[in-house]
Amino acid sequence: MYNDNPTLESLAKTIDESKQGSVYDRGHPESAEEGDRRRFYIESYGCQMNFSDSEIVASILHEVGYVPTREMEAADLILINTCSIREKAEETVRKRLQVFDRVKQQRPGTLVGVLGCMAERLKGKLLEEEKLVDLVVGPDAYRDLPKLVHTAQDGEEAINVFLSREETYADISPLRLDSNGVTAFISIMRGCDNMCSFCVVPFTRGRERSRNAFSIAAEAADLYQRGYREVTLLGQNVDSYKWEHPDTGELVSFAKLLEMVAQVHPDLRVRFSTSHPKDITDEVLYTMAAYENICKYIHLPVQSGNSRILERMNRTYDREWYMDKVRRIYEIMPDCAISSDIIAGFCSETEEEHRDTLRMVEWANYSMSYMFYYSERPGTLAARKYEDDVPLEVKKRRLQEIIRLQNQVSYRHNQKDIGKTFKVLIEGDSKRSDQAFRGRNSQNKMIVFPKAGGLKPGMYVQVRVTDATSATLMGQLTT
Ligand code: SF4
Repeated sequence: MYNDNPTLESLAKTIDESKQGSVYDRGHPESAEEGDRRRFYIESYGCQMNFSDSEIVASILHEVGYVPTREMEAADLILINTCSIREKAEETVRKRLQVFDRVKQQRPGTLVGVLGCMAERLKGKLLEEEKLVDLVVGPDAYRDLPKLVHTAQDGEEAINVFLSREETYADISPLRLDSNGVTAFISIMRGCDNMCSFCVVPFTRGRERSRNAFSIAAEAADLYQRGYREVTLLGQNVDSYKWEHPDTGELVSFAKLLEMVAQVHPDLRVRFSTSHPKDITDEVLYTMAAYENICKYIHLPVQSGNSRILERMNRTYDREWYMDKVRRIYEIMPDCAISSDIIAGFCSETEEEHRDTLRMVEWANYSMSYMFYYSERPGTLAARKYEDDVPLEVKKRRLQEIIRLQNQVSYRHNQKDIGKTFKVLIEGDSKRSDQAFRGRNSQNKMIVFPKAGGLKPGMYVQVRVTDATSATLMGQLTT
């Protein structure tokens, strides 16, 4: 199926061409045949992995004659791809299910399905608790969806939450939903073998398994041929990607995979997420430095700046180890931007340990961070072993202090870019004005600049930064 020295064309050829162009139902069927095509509506929540999975789901349903629609009221099948990372995420899902119920009242026969991590965490309980739910499908069981829809249509219990050790959906080419036609996600692995004590992912997404490297390169080549100019390689912990060639036994590490995708075409930018400080290697950093089209940006969650808390979180590294990784990144790529994930108020965290986290934000000089306060998740190691003893108002106050500091650090980080010129990939119109374009530089910073004739999304331009806020750079075209 894959030869080892694939050309761009031969790589792309392995991908199914039927999934091109705008996929959404135009709402008004062109032909009788199209008229009676069944429609599905899907909402996705949580991490990029979930949004990428929804495109796999769309592809599987498309294969059996469904077309996606943006109109919930017009759908025969309403799906919600869920997140379980915090209590709030599940509350959001329960509220959406109430909305779906009203549609179902008006359109009897409409089926409602819950996908993703909440489906995996709650399993059959969801069917008991939420009477309006017709099918429950875990992240590794999406191939079974068409059969489960039939089971539900027959009024029987439709559930599959089996977690696989092999499933990577490598042979399924995603149906790009709501795509800007410029940037796309490519899932390279599934599951996570780490057991961070606060995290549900190992229970909802199972053990780690890496996807065939050539199928990943083929998908990147196909996307390039279709006009995409940036791919983000996705995994819970991309640094532990490892795939063995079934015939040659050759081991493909994450650094090797990065190189394979970077070699698809110099105009195809490569990003990746999420890294784990214990697994990121110098080999990855030198590979990033060697290819201009591998973006100089790393998302490196720290979670806490204090070693005792990191140990309680079972993050398998301490403050010093993390700082060494950050130093290494800046040594090998001085212009690299680093972002992070931070949890405030983890079990037994003291004020002094909280200040360690504040000091880490300052020292690591993050360009931005995703910041939350600790939300105990049922079934996790922390929920079983530790008391959630930091009062809510203290969690919230500490989170506010981290957010305030991070905004100051992001502002300084962006202010330092004023006067510099960056290569920017145009992604579309600015959110604020259709007289301006938005796009990102290699450091994953959004830049807004006035339009000029002949330019369109998917083109690279040179932009000199003239001003900056903590979230956005503003600039002028130089070419
Ligand atoms: S690395 Fe830790 S936080 Fe990330 S998905 Fe795995 S268990 Fe969860």
